[in-house]
Amino acid sequence: MSLSAKIPEGPLAEKWSKHKFDLKLVNPANKRKYDIIVVGTGLAGASAAASLAELGYNVKAFCFQDSPRRAHSIAAQGGINAAKNYQNDGDSVYRLFYDTIKGGDYRAREANVYRLAEVSVNIIDQCVAQGVPFAREYGGLLDNRSFGGAQVSRTFYARGQTGQQLLLGAYSALNRQIHHGKVKMYTRTEMLDVVVVDGKAQGIITRSLTTGEIDTHTGHAVLLCTGGYGNVFYLSTNAAGSNVTAAWRAHKRGAFFANPCYTQIHPTCIPVTGDHQSKLTLMSESLRNDGRVWAPKTHAIAEQLRKGAIKAAQVGEADRDYFLERKYPSFGNLVPRDVASRNAKEMVDDGRGVGGSGVAVFLDFADAIARLGKDAVAAKYGNLFDMYYQITDEDPYSQPMRIYPAVHYTMGGLWVDYNLSTNVPGLYALGECNFSDHGANRLGASALMQGLSDGYFVIPYTLGDYLATIGPKPVDVNHPAFAQTKKDVTDYIAKLLTLRGTKTVNEYHRELGLIMWEYCGMARTAEGLTKAKGLIHALRADFWKNAIVLGDNEEVNASLEKAGRVADFLELGELMVDDALMRNESCGGHFRLESQTPEGEALRDDEHFAFVAAWEYTGDNQPEKLNKEALEFEYVHLTQRNYK
Ligand SMILES: Cc1cc2nc3c(=O)[nH]c(=O)nc-3n(C[C@H](O)[C@H](O)[C@H](O)COP(=O)(O)OP(=O)(O)OC[C@H]3O[C@@H](n4cnc5c(N)ncnc54)[C@H](O)[C@@H]3O)c2cc1C
Repeated sequence: MSLSAKIPEGPLAEKWSKHKFDLKLVNPANKRKYDIIVVGTGLAGASAAASLAELGYNVKAFCFQDSPRRAHSIAAQGGINAAKNYQNDGDSVYRLFYDTIKGGDYRAREANVYRLAEVSVNIIDQCVAQGVPFAREYGGLLDNRSFGGAQVSRTFYARGQTGQQLLLGAYSALNRQIHHGKVKMYTRTEMLDVVVVDGKAQGIITRSLTTGEIDTHTGHAVLLCTGGYGNVFYLSTNAAGSNVTAAWRAHKRGAFFANPCYTQIHPTCIPVTGDHQSKLTLMSESLRNDGRVWAPKTHAIAEQLRKGAIKAAQVGEADRDYFLERKYPSFGNLVPRDVASRNAKEMVDDGRGVGGSGVAVFLDFADAIARLGKDAVAAKYGNLFDMYYQITDEDPYSQPMRIYPAVHYTMGGLWVDYNLSTNVPGLYALGECNFSDHGANRLGASALMQGLSDGYFVIPYTLGDYLATIGPKPVDVNHPAFAQTKKDVTDYIAKLLTLRGTKTVNEYHRELGLIMWEYCGMARTAEGLTKAKGLIHALRADFWKNAIVLGDNEEVNASLEKAGRVADFLELGELMVDDALMRNESCGGHFRLESQTPEGEALRDDEHFAFVAAWEYTGDNQPEKLNKEALEFEYVHLTQRNYK
């Protein structure tokens, strides 16, 4: 199938303006004749639902939590990028565009990324107007800090709680529309399938998580804003409830899944402490503004630190290896995440890891405290320091934090064109759920920017074009596709409930996570990925024989909810491994050991792999079909990334 990204013609900087003018409009009186389904009310979904309702469409919004305020977006800590150049330090829309393309290791679309940089400035104004309390400088201007992969300060923040404050802003806008009756909000409701009528998405099937009732909802378009799938690794920094089910079920109804193997492993997380954990905790990248990353220079000192014979503060300057500053003098501790993560792994693999397990390096604030004072450091990062202390019982003001990379974000997701439409007409994907803007490695503070750009500034324009094309004729709920899809969902739930084996679905999830981390994590090889493929396949078969799913459908049933999600993760895991195996190059977070430069950096193969891999579902247990969207770079010259 030919994949057209529908990128508008014309110079890069004019594409979006021209496109907005060329898109068809729906007149105000007609807007109220359209019903739009928005699944997910995190930053992407809440901003989209509020904006579309404000325009006059009837919106039905869904989330599986008891309130939109509990979406995973609330966890975002460090900040949101925007090319405002308030610091007068050389930033511009073009620089944000360039940094993002380079940061993603030249595996994202130029046109999408430029638009993202362009509308980033509007996002800040929108959020300030909503009352989002961004940090301010003494004089009252909004403050900025730096994030990885940039040499300017363009990150707007609200202490270490930026996601929470932005979500409260979007949620207020959403609530206003709920109050006006333009949004009908369905909480504790899980979407389990998309209804495709004559090739177009026209509805969804949901299950109430409180009563088990299976329902049908119709709409002229369906927007999936359902977040990322990092929890396929079991342990990640994502909210425990984040899952791939909505995107995966849409994939099985025809939507292509793009670049599933592109996973972001964040360098600064609190290290794993054993096999009892169900999630990991991020220490925001913002900490790398002032924290210095180091490992001991020698194995002997590392050994003493691991045994607890000495404390980090006792290690003299001469015995410390500030490895990021040493290897990347230009960017130092603020190299992009993939680079920082790989270097931390290198230290640990070399036997210089610290902490009881030896699987950690240090993030040290001693210099910053000496330079700025403890109070200033606390004012910037206090809540993160408190969180670290509460989890580890170690005081990061007097000892460096121990950190290690952990799964954090998924750059892959549903394939979308420039209009955020999947290849199924009427089905859109926004926010982390789509693959669109970050290539093979997302820069810090760019996910919030993308989610809000998609929801506040892109979809309100592009959706109208589609709606004007199909017209406001009511959706025919009596079409057989509705009854059939509902039956498929009901049968699938019944099948899950027949599982009365001996192993909990959580055990399967944990096992899958270990396989993914070992073979499809920070370092990947053809041999390891081939092995993983076999292991996941066998685990999946075992799941359908030996898993135990407790209880019934007509009740609150966490075991059933989790079973459906883990079954989907098992299928997705296989596709991720296929994708990683196919992509015989390294790029960004996808590091194939077979493809590295002499200095150990990711070595791309632009001749063979400068494309988006868009996988097409072909049936249960059938190999998926690979469709390629060639990536063309008109403005940015492809080079080996260099942060030295
Ligand atoms: C700890 C942490 C810190 C981060 N910090 C930053 C940061 O500082 N800056 C930055 O830019 N990015 C950050 N990120 C990334 C960023 O938070 C996410 O990428 C972003 O919030 C995702 O927003 P979203 O709206 O796409 O999805 P989410 O916020 O994940 O929302 C998903 C929504 O979909 C709903 N949903 C999902 N499946 C279904 C279903 N089947 N049926 C019904 N509803 C469903 C959920 O209920 C929820 O409402 C961080 C991520 C983590 C893990």
